[in-house]
Amino acid sequence: MKLQMLPSSIDENGAASQRQHLLSLVIDDCVSIDAGSLAMACSAVQREGVRDIILTHTHLDHIAGLPIFIDDLFGSLIKPLRIHATPEMIEILERDIFNWSIYPRFSELNNQSGPVVEYRSFERGSTFSIKHLTFQSIAVNHRVSASGYIVSDRTTAVAVTGDTGETEDFWAACNATENLKAVLVECAFPDEMAKLAEVSNHLTPASLRRELEKLKKRDCPLYVINIKPMYREQVIKELADAPVDGLHILNIGRVYEF
Ligand SMILES: [Zn+2]
Repeated sequence: MKLQMLPSSIDENGAASQRQHLLSLVIDDCVSIDAGSLAMACSAVQREGVRDIILTHTHLDHIAGLPIFIDDLFGSLIKPLRIHATPEMIEILERDIFNWSIYPRFSELNNQSGPVVEYRSFERGSTFSIKHLTFQSIAVNHRVSASGYIVSDRTTAVAVTGDTGETEDFWAACNATENLKAVLVECAFPDEMAKLAEVSNHLTPASLRRELEKLKKRDCPLYVINIKPMYREQVIKELADAPVDGLHILNIGRVYEF
């Protein structure tokens, strides 16, 4: 399975940087988990190939590139772009984003081939398939309806928390998954911001270490994602101060093969 987090920031030389403002995780160049910078940072192959977008939740850093991606493809879509989300997420998108005030209601628009967007709703806890991939949705603990996923192809499984505070079901699902080859886990804030992390349902290095005690598969590499860019260096330093075996910082832009 090929997995790439798309960049969402450029440095002073105009190159992609490791500061992550937005989340888009492209799998096998055909499915994207979230669409934070999908329109702005996808490759030509991904622009042609990604027609299914699965949402972890509706916070702006996870959907900012979604309206722009649809807009970008509007005239060229032969089949509708599919947005996979819970009924709560779909209601929020239609009410707060695709409401004609923020952006057009694409679900009511057609191009020359027909509808351009189709919602595929699922309940958290359910499993669904897209092409050769299976997605197991797991309720995680955030301020809105939010889902983590275990993504599987025929040989490999990768788990992604999305945004979450302390949680149980996600780790139980990881422990029950054979062929788990990687876990991508959030760590948004440094330890001194533990109060804000708690009220906003995010993790810090200390709470991440406590969470990881729930994971029984200790041979599986762990990759930290969703570090707030302002605190990136501090979070990485705090994680390095008391290292956890197998824990890495996910390299933004790199294509991982699991
Ligand atoms: Zn969030």
